[in-house]
Amino acid sequence: MENKKEMRTWLDDLGLNHPLVIAGPCSAETEEQVLKIAHELKDTDVNYYRAGIWKPRTRPGNFEGVGALGLKWLQKVKEETGLKTATEVANRNHVELALEHDIDLLWIGARSTVSPFIVQEIADALKGTDKIVLVKNPVNPDLALWLGAIERLASANIKNLGVIHRGFSTYEKSKYRNNPEWQIAIELQTKFPDLPLINDPSHITGKRDMIFDVSQTALDLNFDGLMIETHFDPDNAWSDAAQQVTPNRLVHIMNDLRIRKETDPEAEYNNELNNLRAQIDVVDNQLIELLGKRMKVADGIGELKKQKNVAVLQSKRWNEILGKMVMEGDEKGLSEEFILRMFKAIHQESINHQEKIINH
Ligand code: PEP
Ligand code: MN
Repeated sequence: MENKKEMRTWLDDLGLNHPLVIAGPCSAETEEQVLKIAHELKDTDVNYYRAGIWKPRTRPGNFEGVGALGLKWLQKVKEETGLKTATEVANRNHVELALEHDIDLLWIGARSTVSPFIVQEIADALKGTDKIVLVKNPVNPDLALWLGAIERLASANIKNLGVIHRGFSTYEKSKYRNNPEWQIAIELQTKFPDLPLINDPSHITGKRDMIFDVSQTALDLNFDGLMIETHFDPDNAWSDAAQQVTPNRLVHIMNDLRIRKETDPEAEYNNELNNLRAQIDVVDNQLIELLGKRMKVADGIGELKKQKNVAVLQSKRWNEILGKMVMEGDEKGLSEEFILRMFKAIHQESINHQEKIINH
C-alpha cells in the first residue's frame, strides 16, 4: 500500500520520534485522581493527557462524568505537568466550555459520529479553530459515516484534523469489545493518507491484556499513534475498568512495541514488509471468519436434509457452483486449478459437517 504522506500536518509539527501517545483515564473522577495520573505520566512518551468529562453511557444509571468541573482539573494538569490536554465533546455547549478552558485536543466520540446532526453542530461550534480535532469511527462499521464527519469538520475550516480507530460493535460474539475491522481503517488511510490515524486499543479490546497486540498490529499497519486508557488503579476505575492500564504498564507497552524508523532504508523495507504482512493477517482472519460462517450455513442445510431424509451429496448443484466459481476466480486472476482444489476442500469440509448432523 502506498502510504507516503505529502502534506505537513499538526503531527509533523510535534516532531516526535515515536508514535503519538494519548493517555489518561477513561473518566475524570476526582481532582486528586486526575492530577495523580498526570504526574505519573509526566516524564513518559505521553503527548496528550486524556480524560472524559462528559461520558456517553450506553445505558443510563452508570457514571456519566463530572461535567464542566473536570475542565478545571485538566487546566491544572497542564499547569503542573506541562502535558497537553484532551477530552471528548458531544455538543455545542461542550465545545464552548472546552475551548474556554483551553483544552488542546478535542475528540468526537463513536456515539456522536453516527449522528450527522450532532457532528454538524460540533463542526459549527468549532468553526475555524486551530485546536486538534479527532474523529472516532462510528459505532457501526460504516465508512461513509466516518468520512462524512471528517468532511463536515473540514468544511468548517478545521485544519488540524485526525481520526481515531476504536473498533465497531457487532451483534456476533467476538473476542473484542469492538471488532477492529482493520480493512475499514486501511480504506480510510488509503483515501486520506495525510490524515493522522490513531488507534484506540483500549476500546477495541475491552481487556488490558490484549492492548499490546492490537497496538503492535496498528503500528505495523502504519498508524500514527495510540490512545490508551490509563489509571493508577484500573480495577477501581469508575468506567471501563477492565481496559485501563497503569502508567507503569503503559511505559512497558511503549518500550516493547516495534516502532518503525522511516529514515533508515533497511527499516523502511522492514516497515513496508510488516505493513503488508499485517494486511495479509487481516485478510486471513476474514477468510477464516467467512469459512466458519459458510460451515454454519452447511450445518443448517444438513438439518434440513435430515428432516426430509435427502442425500447429502447433490452432484448437479455442486457442478454448477464449481463452474461459476472458476469463472469468477478467473476474473480475479485465480487459476482454474487453484479454484478447483480450494473448493474441493471446502466442499469436503461441508459434507463432513452435514454428515455429522445427519448421523446424530
Ligand atoms: C472514550 O474514549 O472513553 C469513549 C467513550 O470512547 P468511544 O467513543 O470510542 O466509545
Ligand atoms: Mn472509555
